[in-house]
Amino acid sequence: MVVVSRVAPDVFRCSGTHVNWYLLREGRHLTLIDAGWSGDTAAVVASVVAVGCDPRDVRAIVITHAHADHLGGARHFRREYGTPVHMAAADAEHAANGELEQPRPLDVVRRLGGRRALRWGLDVARAGALRRRSLPGAVPLPDGDSWEPLDLPGAPVPVATPGHTSGSTSYMLPGGLLATGDALITAHPLARLTGPQLSPAFFAHDPAAADASLDVLAGLDAGVVLPGHGPVWRGSMGEATRIARWRADGGGASLRHGTRRAGSWQRSGSSKG
Ligand SMILES: [Zn+2]
Repeated sequence: MVVVSRVAPDVFRCSGTHVNWYLLREGRHLTLIDAGWSGDTAAVVASVVAVGCDPRDVRAIVITHAHADHLGGARHFRREYGTPVHMAAADAEHAANGELEQPRPLDVVRRLGGRRALRWGLDVARAGALRRRSLPGAVPLPDGDSWEPLDLPGAPVPVATPGHTSGSTSYMLPGGLLATGDALITAHPLARLTGPQLSPAFFAHDPAAADASLDVLAGLDAGVVLPGHGPVWRGSMGEATRIARWRADGGGASLRHGTRRAGSWQRSGSSKG
């Protein structure tokens, strides 16, 4: 089952097994940002059809980072249609040899314990998390921050936001939209609260770099966050990253409720210091 929602006239958020991917449509053609777990492949194909396109219309898949929950469906498109897959060079290397900078789900479940983690573990195991597969032949993104749009439907502009993985990349889109992958998320089954936040620390390859990448995100002129996990969030990047950093510093640890509005975060955050 796939849920497709329209974020902008030609930008669609799709959700699979606790993970999002996005469709950028231009005429008949599409760019996919990320591709779910391997077990989400049928859902990715269904999402393409749901916006009136055919899987052959996918011109490229751009990947925010080489984790199994974002790469999964790309293999199918590559194999069946020869769809090119783009990602940062560092992550392309990890995808090629299958040695991802990602903890194994069993280790995560063991470490966290509890029902919530167990339920997540079962869900992602069903989605293919226990199988390690490689994805060779990805096209590396231009080095550094070229700030040039890729010549693809939807004109995504890659911005390096490393930390979650070495090659984690966000994509600026026309109209002030920003696909952040897991450099900035808004909810996760393993996190208690919703709202802008860093991905759970044990998923980060380099937590200090992930924190530093919040400064990069804060400087971007965007007003709509399209995260790798969680709902779309609207507000300035300055506010989004301030909330994320406040939480990373332990803010909200004492909050008992699962959902807070952005305004409450801001108030709680500013009352902290
Ligand atoms: Zn992820």
